[in-house]
Amino acid sequence: MKLHFSVTHSVCGLSSPSGPRVCIVGGGPAGFYTAQQLLKARRDAVVDIYERLPVIILRSRSGLRLVTNVINTFTQTAQHERCSFHGNVNVGKDVTIDELQQAYHTKPQHNTEGNRSMGIPGEDLAGVFSAKDFVGWYNGLPSNKEPRPDLSCETALVLGQGNVALDVARILLDTDITQNALEALAGSKVRRVLIVGQRGPLQIACTIKELREMVNLPNTRADMLPADFEGIAEALKGKNIKSKRFIHLNTTLIDEKAEKCWGFRFFRSPVEILAGADGKRAAGIRLALNKLEGSGESACACACACSDPTGQLEDVDCGLIISSIGYKSIPIDPAVPFDPQKAIVPNEMGRVQDTAGLYCSGWVKRGPTGVIATTMNDSFDTACVLIQDMEAGKLDVSANKPGAQAITALRQTRGVRTVLFSQWEKINAEEEKRGRSLGKPREKLLDVNQMLKIA
Ligand code: NAP
Repeated sequence: MKLHFSVTHSVCGLSSPSGPRVCIVGGGPAGFYTAQQLLKARRDAVVDIYERLPVIILRSRSGLRLVTNVINTFTQTAQHERCSFHGNVNVGKDVTIDELQQAYHTKPQHNTEGNRSMGIPGEDLAGVFSAKDFVGWYNGLPSNKEPRPDLSCETALVLGQGNVALDVARILLDTDITQNALEALAGSKVRRVLIVGQRGPLQIACTIKELREMVNLPNTRADMLPADFEGIAEALKGKNIKSKRFIHLNTTLIDEKAEKCWGFRFFRSPVEILAGADGKRAAGIRLALNKLEGSGESACACACACSDPTGQLEDVDCGLIISSIGYKSIPIDPAVPFDPQKAIVPNEMGRVQDTAGLYCSGWVKRGPTGVIATTMNDSFDTACVLIQDMEAGKLDVSANKPGAQAITALRQTRGVRTVLFSQWEKINAEEEKRGRSLGKPREKLLDVNQMLKIA
């Protein structure tokens, strides 16, 4: 998503003399889509968007790539006369939840994204990255400048077979990213990327478009294990176009002369990251071979691996391991309802459970799934529910609260500098200028202080 982005955000109603005001925490796709719908549906609504980074939208934290028309829509929203973007405001640190609650009438809640842990020994070794950190590194997120991945190994292994895993694999083999990451990748010795899944081709998590991009990657060839595809053709008769492509994939070698290769490895779960001679750096991974329980897309590897493991283990040499097994939201305020099992804020159609005036959309509402259109629809739904509640009198918008004015005063006394949209445009222009000199659309700035200086 990631919504990247922080697809996690919340909104809260606020009254003002001119009409309801809404505070949105999180300046990613979910936040912008919610704002867009609110501004459209309530001609008197005023919306303030608070974002931890000094930048917006172009920095998808989940790796979601935003197409130009999506970016244009967000830009129009940010420039709307009733909308303000306040970047560089870390809710929970620069401004507390209570302060926002006082200013905005209700308690806003902000979640941030974390990594799903693999829960296996060796996870902390050097050379093991979460996809979130790796994507953050090549996307130029200031918080992921370090550690830089060491790309001196020949084989890299990505755990998980979702769209993020494919993005990561593609970047390792062919790339269009920050100069910093480009330089590291230019010197990369990675020639082979294995994308490992716990289930089979029928259950693969990535979508066709992303798979096609992988297949069409220049100068690479696919390297599959025919055994992984045994019995699939029969199982597929009359079904599932997505998986049929894998049959095709299995029989198509893309470019036999290509120096680099990638391949899916199915029916394998991580058991342990194996350290090299120094005991500090990852040198391989131990995988358990799974059998599936059940059939079709819902077949399960976990239960089978636990209750009836095949007992077969396989060690793979690889110096870089990226765990791309999904994102999860993390609560930043224990006072806000949070379901740690599902890593979502318990809600009913975006209304946060037992917390009047607090709403959520994006991954914190439904979990870390879906493409950008899913996030758009989901955010529009939350905005509609919020407006319905205002109009039905369920959300009190009669009291007069200071809103952004109070927050601005607070952060000024604390020396926290906000980056407004017009200032972000300066950062954007500088990034584009730097990009032009390198023959790229943009060269992202990695240092927050530098961004603030330019803003
Ligand atoms: P995802 O689609 O949920 O894929 C997660 C992968 O991790 C699956 O292959 C899953 O296997 C595997 N996995 C989960 N737990 C595991 C474990 N304990 N051990 C081994 N493997 C495990 O997540 P994602 O790739 O992070 O993507 C998140 C969402 O963003 C998705 O909806 C995706 O489509 C979207 N996205 C879209 C784009 C795009 O539109 N271009 C780009 C990036 C992301 P099982 O299926 O067997 O559980």
